[in-house]
Amino acid sequence: EPHVPSDIEIARSQTPKDVSELAAEVGLLPAEVDLYGRKKAKVDLSVLKRLQNTPDGKYVVVAGITPTPLGEGKSTTTLGLCQALGAHCQKNVFACVRQPSQGPTFGIKGGAAGGGWSQVIPMDEFNLHLTGDIHAITAANNLLAAQIDARMFHEFAQTDAALYGRLVPNIKGSRTFSKIQFLRLEKVGITKTDPDSLTEEEITKFVRLDIDKDTITWQRVLDTNDRFLRGITIGQGPAEKGRTRECQFDISVGSEIMAVLALTTSLADMRARLGRMVVASDTSGNPVTADDLGASGALMVLLKDAIRPNLMQTLEGTPVFVHAGPFANIAHGNSSILADKIALKLVGKDGYVVTEAGFGADIGMEKFFNIKCRASGLLPNCVVLVATVRALKMHGGGPPVTPGTPLHKEYLQENLELVKKGISNLRKQIENGNIFGVPVVVAINQFSTDTEAELSLVQEEAVACGAAGAVVCSHWRDGGAGAQKLAELVQEQCRNTTNNFKFLYELKLPIEEKVRIISQKIYGAADVKFSPEAQQQIDRYTKQGFSDLPICMAKTHLSLSSDPSVKGAPTGFSITINQVRASVGAGFLYPIVGTMSTMPGLPTRPCIYDIDLDLETGEVLGLF
Ligand code: ADP
Repeated sequence: EPHVPSDIEIARSQTPKDVSELAAEVGLLPAEVDLYGRKKAKVDLSVLKRLQNTPDGKYVVVAGITPTPLGEGKSTTTLGLCQALGAHCQKNVFACVRQPSQGPTFGIKGGAAGGGWSQVIPMDEFNLHLTGDIHAITAANNLLAAQIDARMFHEFAQTDAALYGRLVPNIKGSRTFSKIQFLRLEKVGITKTDPDSLTEEEITKFVRLDIDKDTITWQRVLDTNDRFLRGITIGQGPAEKGRTRECQFDISVGSEIMAVLALTTSLADMRARLGRMVVASDTSGNPVTADDLGASGALMVLLKDAIRPNLMQTLEGTPVFVHAGPFANIAHGNSSILADKIALKLVGKDGYVVTEAGFGADIGMEKFFNIKCRASGLLPNCVVLVATVRALKMHGGGPPVTPGTPLHKEYLQENLELVKKGISNLRKQIENGNIFGVPVVVAINQFSTDTEAELSLVQEEAVACGAAGAVVCSHWRDGGAGAQKLAELVQEQCRNTTNNFKFLYELKLPIEEKVRIISQKIYGAADVKFSPEAQQQIDRYTKQGFSDLPICMAKTHLSLSSDPSVKGAPTGFSITINQVRASVGAGFLYPIVGTMSTMPGLPTRPCIYDIDLDLETGEVLGLF
């Protein structure tokens, strides 16, 4: 057996060029680039203004068939395709990818830097803290959480006048309201500017939020897979006077602030979105927002650097933006709009931006179109759908694929029958792309165990199922050269000038109807059931005026249905919505399908065991 180098060995075998050199190559001015060491930089949003008259490049989204728990190589293909377009086809190109969460990095699946000879480097920095964006999100999220509980406590513990005295301190004789307090005054209909002139009644209106603690939806977050934080009791210290409350932690990358970062289009837009975030209802049923809590300015300050995309590079020196990292099952699963927008300007009319939508096309791609493209106004030109022989065999009835255990023989030997049966999933996911009017190119990500006959079968079937083209790729083994045919196919599809892109549903439809359309048309479900709790939440959000938002389904990525063990392309099943949350600032409603957990746990054998620091060289060991 020849030694197959690990992803980190390959990543380290190539020395990245200085990021300032890369920045100059892609047309950034020195003043637009803020260096974080020599391999990473943050890029200023002012580029968008400077290049406002430059036409956008072509916009390609990489999605996948329903994956095995090991991942089928979407990140690897995104980076391989960019290496092919940039280093081999001499096109201007940018890859736009998400920042990986520490949860999976130390948990079950590993990072998202790609793999083999198609990766972002330095991959350890990419997979660990990067430039601290996720930490900033965690800090902002938890500041707001702390403010909610502290505010309820102070309202409970103090009279209105005392509270008011604290909220509007006498600042050296010039008593005035802050900008955020003015927002609150406006909301409660008070037009006065002099704090001294408020009546008792106005003070109460201004000060009291009267949060109904049973309606709080804002949770604390952490970027660690910590299952013991799925249900906690807070407020147990004696100073909190028995005001305990049961709540939970979510993973940071599933948080609304992460989604705000990914979906925002400017600093002003981010401020408005943060302010609009609804954290609970008051005792009269009105939404309580981050602005009501006076927090949006402080959140902005914590997030001012996170809003700028991070510039890195592939193994072959092509540029990559790494920005925002929402999961695709319990969040909307797409990297930032700002990174895509800046990249589309930087590559220009003849260039390409390749962005990745997490997990299978039924979740990541559906949300890319219906949520991200709606918010950005960008029109996608082509879908690349990644498929593997391995996943198709699983869909065809092969034994379960379990991380950390050796693959069964079905996956190591030729088995055309399983592949053929598993095509059902590929067909459904191709159709899912075609529903949106965007051409679908199938990238068959080749593994060393795949046989010629298996690969040709997938290629033929993909075209028969409605793909605009299908090609076998070996970029994991060969770098960009292995994705050259894919690059050509993608360019051919993008040359088509008519764009037939359309959304799946109208925003004006009732919430239940939008959920039904996604479940029936994309998943293949026969019916949708709403639990009494979900129905109550839908009624509340409709009454509060939030029903026109798009839908972000929280659903397993391991099946088209809500049962992870059901493979292929099932029909006749029913989807149960147990809860609906509202991410009003991010701009979507968030139905939870079945029993999706918003805080993953560590498996019995987490990646932790493999990771270490080489004390001699300072190198990170064991990251995949
Ligand atoms: P996804 O983005 O779809 O989750 P990744 O691109 O992260 O998948 O790949 C998952 C893992 O599989 C990575 O460790 C990667 O190195 C490995 N991998 C991807 N493609 C291949 C291939 N063709 N042969 C062997 N391993 C691969």
